[in-house]
Amino acid sequence: MGRKRKKASGIAGRYFGYLLLPIIVYGWTSGNMSAAFILIASSLTILYALFAVPAWCMATTRDGLACRRNSHGLLLGCSLREHKWQKLKMSFRASKWGELFGKFWSNTANAAAAVSAMAGTGSALVAAVALATK
Ligand SMILES: [Zn+2]
Repeated sequence: MGRKRKKASGIAGRYFGYLLLPIIVYGWTSGNMSAAFILIASSLTILYALFAVPAWCMATTRDGLACRRNSHGLLLGCSLREHKWQKLKMSFRASKWGELFGKFWSNTANAAAAVSAMAGTGSALVAAVALATK
């Protein structure tokens, strides 16, 4: 019972990061929000996409196939310990970035997260420059 209730209330929580994107877009287009606020919101979006968004694991299994289990965030794998570390380790090795990047575009859930992460990065950079040059 408790498990079911957790699932129902979790949907909004699990996708909260995507709600930040329209807020950031509104912040930039309206000009009503401070760059500092946009910088924080953008940073949260990046962290959300990398570590919390509902996505597919996509770690390479022993059969050479991509793991289709559910995971959280682009950089974290599913509940298998080996997969948890596989992508995180890849992110620390520049030679593996191409392979890792390919995994981001392999399905809709991960691609949406990857787009959010890039939008967040771009927005955060612009906000940081705006803050620095003010
Ligand atoms: Zn996995």
